[in-house]
Amino acid sequence: MALTSFDLKARDGRARCGVISTPRGEIRTPAFMPVGTAATVKGMMPESVRETGADILLGNTYHLMLRPGAERVARLGGLHRFMNWERPILTDSGGFQVMSLSSLRKLTEEGVTFRSHVDGSKHMLSPERSMEIQRLLGSDIVMAFDECPALPADRRRLEESMRLSMRWAQRSRDAFGDRPGHMLFGIQQGGLEEDLRAESAEALRAIGFDGYAIGGLAVGEGQEAMFGCLDFAPGQLPEDKPRYLMGVGKPDDIVGAVKRGVDMMDCVLPSRSGRTGQAWTRRGQVNIKNARHADDPRPLDETCTCPACRSYSRAYLHHVYRAGEMIAGMLLTWHNLHYYQELMQSMREAIAKGRFAAFEAEFHARRADGDILPL
Ligand SMILES: [Zn+2]
Repeated sequence: MALTSFDLKARDGRARCGVISTPRGEIRTPAFMPVGTAATVKGMMPESVRETGADILLGNTYHLMLRPGAERVARLGGLHRFMNWERPILTDSGGFQVMSLSSLRKLTEEGVTFRSHVDGSKHMLSPERSMEIQRLLGSDIVMAFDECPALPADRRRLEESMRLSMRWAQRSRDAFGDRPGHMLFGIQQGGLEEDLRAESAEALRAIGFDGYAIGGLAVGEGQEAMFGCLDFAPGQLPEDKPRYLMGVGKPDDIVGAVKRGVDMMDCVLPSRSGRTGQAWTRRGQVNIKNARHADDPRPLDETCTCPACRSYSRAYLHHVYRAGEMIAGMLLTWHNLHYYQELMQSMREAIAKGRFAAFEAEFHARRADGDILPL
């Protein structure tokens, strides 16, 4: 019997719900993965992240290879043990962040050489090195090494970049080898061009992966263009494998992506915005810094069961944020992650019951009402 699997449980239109099984636990899909960049979801204890309903975390190869170093994490027992998270971990390949964060990059057929944004030291990433790092970390879902061009990019640049990524996908597959219990995902590229996306999907299918990511979106093209691409991109990928949209997004991006057949997503938004005083609720975005909350004894969201809403008022959250207290970011991050996971759970239930359209209408209607009125 295979140690990993993906079982589709229900479909509603193009939306799907299912379960990815790994030796470290099940991942209910559609799944949202909180981002634990530097072996921590900032401001959260791992057990608290689990309490929000997360089945899987994302770790960043680029950050971890630079600090504390993949070999060191391996000597210390691997990333799960190092960060005290025993459930599944997906690691990205490092390709995207090398392009966005490092300096003095040099891209060749072999890979990318660059200088660390931390201390200026020189490093190299290639498909082979990325597979090695992700193996040292002990990642359950490994991502193929790819190149992600910023949008807008001209067609020629997209085409060349996509074909390079497909050659790297084959090298990633070869270097990954046979690792029972671990999954390797390929990454579709091709910008917003339908034929390039199709060519990329075909190349990935020919190589064969355990799952398929839609890469190169949420890089500044806007929601309308992203949804336009998601109207065809997921359908080009194999039906019986998980589809992962990388780096997305806001709650309405997530709902639109699930509607279009996406099974997994990740984004720093709920944790990052928690640290900058932004909360996400069923009614949209709340800026807790706003003076209107200073005397408000009501919770962020009276129906939310997270600790921030159960035990604290808007006035308290406003106060600790303005006072620069750590608990502000902790509570808002907890609330935001809880809200995101509840959103995923609602979508899984709606798909299973064949009522995704009704769910979507309610989701948008509630947001259109806006936040509760000031007292
Ligand atoms: Zn809450």
